[in-house]
Amino acid sequence: MRTDESKNRKRTELHRHLDVSFRASTLADLVKTLGISAPFHDEEEVRTKFWVTRQMGSLGEVLSCFGIFQQVLRTPAILERVAREVIEDAGAEGIGAIELRYSPSFTSKVSGLSWGVALDAFLRGLEAGARATGVNAGLICIVTRDYGVGVAGETIDFAIQNKDAFLAVDLAGNEEQFPNKMFVEPFRRARDAGLHVTIHAGEACGPESVWDALDLLGAQRIGHGISSVKDAELMKRLARDGVLLEICPTSNFVTRSIPSWDAHPLKRFLDAGIPVSLSTDDPGIFGVTLEEEYQRARRLLGLSDADFDRIDRYARKYTFL
Ligand SMILES: [Zn+2]
Repeated sequence: MRTDESKNRKRTELHRHLDVSFRASTLADLVKTLGISAPFHDEEEVRTKFWVTRQMGSLGEVLSCFGIFQQVLRTPAILERVAREVIEDAGAEGIGAIELRYSPSFTSKVSGLSWGVALDAFLRGLEAGARATGVNAGLICIVTRDYGVGVAGETIDFAIQNKDAFLAVDLAGNEEQFPNKMFVEPFRRARDAGLHVTIHAGEACGPESVWDALDLLGAQRIGHGISSVKDAELMKRLARDGVLLEICPTSNFVTRSIPSWDAHPLKRFLDAGIPVSLSTDDPGIFGVTLEEEYQRARRLLGLSDADFDRIDRYARKYTFL
């Protein structure tokens, strides 16, 4: 049985990408207003034709759907609106604290907005959303692997210059072609500057990617880390050192990190004493809410109320907020 206290307590979400988290209605509205060609014409078609809800061939196939967001993130007012709406929706869903992450290079790639202008716009939106809802929100700065080491260094410099605005740095994108070992130097500088580190790893690649995230990049948390289950030594290390895995069940299914729901290792991570949290990853493309992630974890992955109490405690303990 869940206690009344745990039922009423608000949730903490640690892994959601701000730059691809649009309401269906907002995405449809912006595409129309900006005159962008898109595979949908209205809110309903965003849900039925754009959202990726079935299992894709790979993470890369899912990432290829992200271009539309870059075209829509065109002005500071749009960035501010997107950030405000994410917080409003989080508040309405019963989330009390949320870490949102975005990639400055991805966000400004098409618009050409300066990274500083884009950051200020996102911050205004977060503040407005927080004022309206009381949700505690913070930002993580993502280094996009696919833009290479040079841009990675510039992104880390930007995060360090704006240390007051960022809780942590992250590495995301194509894990196979741009492995962790390419990014040792910039992440060392980030750690030296006192920024927390979380790394997307073990999502498209095997356990070696998680080892490298820990040993080469100093990751304190891992985004996904699904393939860790294949390596008993790594499982012990994650449990021993208390490295939290930010698990996003729907994303793991859609990007084929797991071949089927039955194969999801969430329960095995919990049983091994590894801290885990539940998050939505990219709700603007998977069309999923945090509540639905919890429901799927219960229905498809066999988690109990006691498991959810543990998960909620871990999220509150391991947040960078
Ligand atoms: Zn992610």
